[in-house]
Amino acid sequence: MNPIGMDNSVFPARRPGDGEAPPVDGVADGAGGRGNLIGLSREELGAEVAALGEKPFRVKQLWHWIYHRGATDFRAMTTLAKPLRERLADLYVLERPEIVRHQVGEDGTRKWLLRAGEGHLIETVHIPEEDRGALCISSQVGCTLTCAFCHTGTQRLVRNLEPGEIVGQFMLARDRLGEWPTPTGGARLLSNIVMMGMGEPLYNFENVKTALGIVMDEEGVALSRRRITLSTSGVVPMMERCGAELNVDLAVSLHAVTDELRSILVPLNRKYPIERLLAACRAYPGASNARRITFEYVMLRGVNDSDADARALVRLLGGVPAKVNLIPFNPWPGAPYECSSNARIASFARIVNDGGLSAPVRRPRGRDILAACGQLRSDTVGKRRSGLPRDRAGAAA
Ligand code: SF4
Repeated sequence: MNPIGMDNSVFPARRPGDGEAPPVDGVADGAGGRGNLIGLSREELGAEVAALGEKPFRVKQLWHWIYHRGATDFRAMTTLAKPLRERLADLYVLERPEIVRHQVGEDGTRKWLLRAGEGHLIETVHIPEEDRGALCISSQVGCTLTCAFCHTGTQRLVRNLEPGEIVGQFMLARDRLGEWPTPTGGARLLSNIVMMGMGEPLYNFENVKTALGIVMDEEGVALSRRRITLSTSGVVPMMERCGAELNVDLAVSLHAVTDELRSILVPLNRKYPIERLLAACRAYPGASNARRITFEYVMLRGVNDSDADARALVRLLGGVPAKVNLIPFNPWPGAPYECSSNARIASFARIVNDGGLSAPVRRPRGRDILAACGQLRSDTVGKRRSGLPRDRAGAAA
């Protein structure tokens, strides 16, 4: 997906095709063979508590400690009897993904490269603003899709992330930003979630749904659904469920105004062309003029950035409750595209704005730490393959 507020990378498509939804995975084990409670739904946690012979009200207590207080150690759970705390510690962990590498950009953007079991690497990025901040969360290791502008698209899909690995990215960021217990009146540094990291979240819908259900639960993290945006490359059959069952804000990777070009930039377009995609957007549950769908549009010099393209974009989005994010492309060595000039982007934005659509130009973020989707993982994997010593490949945080 396209990280909000970050540049994207262009890389030749690894293979043509529109990708297939991978299978859904099960719940992962934690350290020492103990079960990880992070990522269990309330019902699943209730089943664990019942299996221990404990009363149902323990679920509420545990939930409070895990998701409101951010506890990482059962011994800190002072409202639970000591024997129960010890039993829990024998059987379970409250494990976040392991940090392999941590970088902080000059603009305060933080990027974590995380190990998601069996040596798989994923990325999570925190993008701070003055009085808030968004966490860009990954939903898969790699991606089956091959969007031409996205670096993750050059990495093969390894697997779907488990709910605990998705929620775990949020928990870890809160740990590192010092935002436990859940602040009253809304978190300051971590106020929003954008499902725009590695992977296509609608190809891992069940696990994403469980994970977001946990962060939205009012007795835990209690993040409002209005503070969560899910970005899709256009998995049309899943969009209705996303709106109906999660009711979060939707962002769509559009990037082109013709099927011919979009099928190159976002190969999934061959399966779900623009007309079907926009019909699904018009029908998206909860979309309205007060709650618009965001259309992401990466600015590629001489490819999709003409005034004619801008006018066509305005026509195309007529009747859709829409706003447009214009994303300056972040070129990198070997990329087959370049970023549009500032003047071109300004002209494009003016036409879209004059057409009645909000079209902010996203400020590039985290450029100095390879903050575009998939870049840090590739950088690290590449350095390890090249035989560079670990300290030169980047030290763990
Ligand atoms: S769907 Fe996959 S390839 Fe396309 S932008 Fe998202 S992560 Fe990149």
